[in-house]
Amino acid sequence: MSPSWSNVRADFPILHQQVNGKPLVYLDNAATSQKPRCVIDALVGYYERDNSNVHRGLHALSMRATDAYESARARLATFINAADAAEIIFTRGTTESINLAARSLGAKLKPGDVILATEMEHHSNLVPWQQIAKATGATLRFVPVLGANAEGGLDLASLDSLLTPQVKIFAFTHISNTLGGINPVEELCRRARAVGALSVIDAAQSIGHGPFDVRAIGADFVAFSGHKMAGPTGIGVLYGRRGLLDTMVPDETGGGMVSHVEYSGARWKPAPERFEAGTPNIADAIALAKACDYLDALDRAAIAKHDGELAALAYERLSTLPGIRLLGTAGARSGLVSFAFTEVHAHDIVTFADEDGIALRGGHHCNQPLMRKLGLTGTTRASFYVYNTPEEIDVLVASMRRILKFFGVT
Ligand code: PLP
Repeated sequence: MSPSWSNVRADFPILHQQVNGKPLVYLDNAATSQKPRCVIDALVGYYERDNSNVHRGLHALSMRATDAYESARARLATFINAADAAEIIFTRGTTESINLAARSLGAKLKPGDVILATEMEHHSNLVPWQQIAKATGATLRFVPVLGANAEGGLDLASLDSLLTPQVKIFAFTHISNTLGGINPVEELCRRARAVGALSVIDAAQSIGHGPFDVRAIGADFVAFSGHKMAGPTGIGVLYGRRGLLDTMVPDETGGGMVSHVEYSGARWKPAPERFEAGTPNIADAIALAKACDYLDALDRAAIAKHDGELAALAYERLSTLPGIRLLGTAGARSGLVSFAFTEVHAHDIVTFADEDGIALRGGHHCNQPLMRKLGLTGTTRASFYVYNTPEEIDVLVASMRRILKFFGVT
């Protein structure tokens, strides 16, 4: 049963404020989502009751903290239907997860090997692969994006020639943070597997917006951030298939990840500890598990429908504005729309919308090469989440009309 979306707003304390004398309309969810009361309480509760270091202590608080931290790992595993909690590595977020995967997997690459990515990757799923390619002599190639406004999505036909046996890693985003379209991740993983390549999915924009089943998708690695799924900043996950993780070299070394140490060398623990050197981010992992409970209670299929419907409505309403260029497909999309006006710069749009209490994002969205390909310096992005309403789209469209009028665009 679908939740009552109007009740959801009450769970998010931050939403009940005015900005520039207007009710806050928060449409910057692709950058970071807001946090429900239960997540905030989990953070505070941990520091008030249980705070201690994990894994190495034998006293009550340390055992409680360890239990809560490892339960959080198990909760994240069920959230994405991982086979085993040991497949969940806690990181600072998507960026750190991809860097970890790139450096650990990159250790095995050699000249002649190919890393395949797509033209729509966020810098976080691009630059780490560029660095690995430079360091190893491997070649980085890209699946093209189709259409002047990227309305054709990924050029899947190009996979026939791009996915050769030389491809060792295929890294792609589930949902583009600029285009909003949903990539066919099951198919991409299947195609990667068919040539013996490992798949790495950037799930930053999808994980909090709908069901996500790593086993059904057939993913080898998945990276995501807590702060885009109603959880705290500073915590994220790298999922890796168990058999793979234990063959990988650790990215960082130090306390907690070693099983035996001599002055002359050390041996590593198995995953996940192997990849979590030092004191982990205990409180935020626990609060992230609470965010998983919150999203599951809302029903993630219902969230996907809600966010997608809001984005489709925004796309339709915005398309009536003069001189607008909407990116991505008009059809199936996740909860965001990205657009540009010929006459008004995205930064002006965002600054003027703030006067109306609306939080938007304008710029290249960490997609500089894609922007260049599309002949844009940036776009304005409105991104939706569980607490957004159709009425807020009315406010957005009215604000855009006001701004266009101010700039003399009619
Ligand atoms: N990948 C995508 C598609 C994103 O949208 C983002 C953030 O906007 C990232 C990666 C990086 O996430 P984080 O900054 O949380 O590491």
